[in-house]
Amino acid sequence: MNVISWFRRHTVIAHLLACLLALLLFFVWAPAALIVIVAYVSVLGVASMNMALNLYLDAFRHIPAGAPPAADTGGQIALSFDDSPTDGTAQVLAILKAHKVKATFFIVGAHAAARPDLLRQIVHEGHAIGNHSHCHEHTLPMRSAATILADIRQCSHTIQDIAGVTPHMYRPPFGVVNPAIARAVADSGLPCVGWSLRSFDTATPRPERLLSRIVRRLKPGAIILLHDYPAVTPQILPALLQEIERRNLSCVLLSPEILQS
Ligand SMILES: [Zn+2]
Repeated sequence: MNVISWFRRHTVIAHLLACLLALLLFFVWAPAALIVIVAYVSVLGVASMNMALNLYLDAFRHIPAGAPPAADTGGQIALSFDDSPTDGTAQVLAILKAHKVKATFFIVGAHAAARPDLLRQIVHEGHAIGNHSHCHEHTLPMRSAATILADIRQCSHTIQDIAGVTPHMYRPPFGVVNPAIARAVADSGLPCVGWSLRSFDTATPRPERLLSRIVRRLKPGAIILLHDYPAVTPQILPALLQEIERRNLSCVLLSPEILQS
């Protein structure tokens, strides 16, 4: 059993051990106790914000490259759009259609309830969908495992009611994970899907900068995280799809069968 699997099984004991160590150090040299607590909380915080560390759960972040590592062209990648459907969904769908490219949309249940026509269009045009929570509230990661699980199920039911399809993957809002989310995801039976290439399209308003950031990191096996609501995303999407085509990369749909950690 490695440190991560031990931590997952005994999270409360790990917290108590950290507190005990800090308490002991406090009587020897008080600043050391503070350093231990700050370091421990920092590690937990970084792990919560970074699924790649897999501290709380196993997140899938790649697909098979589909090409020899040394190959300059070829292979496969996956485009994913979070928080859909939004006001930007129709424009993104039109661009994908023009380039004959399929993507995976991680659906927010409340957004789908507000724009059922767009969810049906996503599904009708052959794109894959995943569950991205029902409410997508900032406070969701602070809720209990039972509440988070109920939220996941509400999203799935909403998608099923509107589009007649059931999502088989889950991507946590904000990419935040913690013990409660890990327990809810495990109970949902859905694999947790992360990404290997975060575009930061919600925080990069300059198109040339965003495109260059993605293109520099683009390689076979990548799962790219985008959103369809920032104004900048449809601005760079045609050029990104042209670059993907130039490199002879295939865009494939995400599914539980194709996911790799
Ligand atoms: Zn999101």
